Amino acid sequence: MKAAVVRDPVDGYVDIKDVTLRPIHHGEALVDVEYCGLCHTDLHVMAGDYGKFPGRIIGHEGVGIVSQIADDVTSLKVGDRVSIAWFFSGCGNCEYCNTGRETLCRNVKNAGFTVDGAMAQQVIVDANYAVKVPDGLDPVEATSLTCAGVTTYKALKVGDTKPGDWVEIVGAGGLGNIAVQYAKNVFGAHVIAVDGNPDKLAAAKENGADILINRHDPDVAEQIQAKVGGVRNSIVTAVTTAAFNQSVNALRPDGRLVAVALPLGDMSLNIGKTVLDGIQVAGSLVGTRQDLKETFQFGAEGKVHPIVHTRRLSEINDIITDMKNNKIVGRMVIDFTKE
Ligand SMILES: [Zn+2]
Ligand SMILES: [Zn+2]
Repeated sequence: MKAAVVRDPVDGYVDIKDVTLRPIHHGEALVDVEYCGLCHTDLHVMAGDYGKFPGRIIGHEGVGIVSQIADDVTSLKVGDRVSIAWFFSGCGNCEYCNTGRETLCRNVKNAGFTVDGAMAQQVIVDANYAVKVPDGLDPVEATSLTCAGVTTYKALKVGDTKPGDWVEIVGAGGLGNIAVQYAKNVFGAHVIAVDGNPDKLAAAKENGADILINRHDPDVAEQIQAKVGGVRNSIVTAVTTAAFNQSVNALRPDGRLVAVALPLGDMSLNIGKTVLDGIQVAGSLVGTRQDLKETFQFGAEGKVHPIVHTRRLSEINDIITDMKNNKIVGRMVIDFTKE
């Protein structure tokens, strides 16, 4: 079967190779992939930024149909549509796995990074960890909900977002635009979108943002304080440390900053504001199986629609170049039903 594998030596691109998968073991299922989105995290894996894994099949935004299950598998059946997410599996036994925080498991496996992923015609999954895609959810859209969707939905939960709250979404790219939709359509919040790119702000407006602010304005936090008295929750998806510092000052008392993006470096936090205003700062990493199930259900109900475009596997290195040059709006999804 055809698969996109990290090059040897690692150079930031993939080779399309014919790969033979091993037979499935106990607890596993084989999935015939229909679609897999290409994510910036894949670019990091291909570039060896998190460690070099030449030969690894990339892809963690996969959706496909179960074609084979091991004898002992009861959670899936042949014909089920499932997802393959970055959170591929946890150990199932530790403090974090046992208390609803499985993405923090120290023995976590990540699809397309520490185990072979879904950018291939077939992928082997741990049957207990492959979350089903509900009927009514477009499988192409489901690929983006598997990553950006669950990440932003979870971040809004971590931020303790409630109906009527003002939420700031910093960065209106792929993550940010889905965050706007979940904040508005699922959590019932009012949304301020902050970005430096007018096109992205226009897209945020279309997705329901109530107030748009250009990130390059010198007084972003002051504008937010003046307009709405500060936000309850700031979700930072922009990959700049400046965005983090700006967001702290946009919070109202008892506000929460939820860090989702991963810029290098440190954020500075005014101690006085933190103490006197009871500010909380939290990191949020993807989501659990239950989070993903909920994320999908809202997608199936039509409350969120990621921007997705389907492409062919043979085009993948061109797409990678376009992503590196920041030329892509929305998510490019490889269509394996045409391979
Ligand atoms: Zn991703
Ligand atoms: Zn664990």
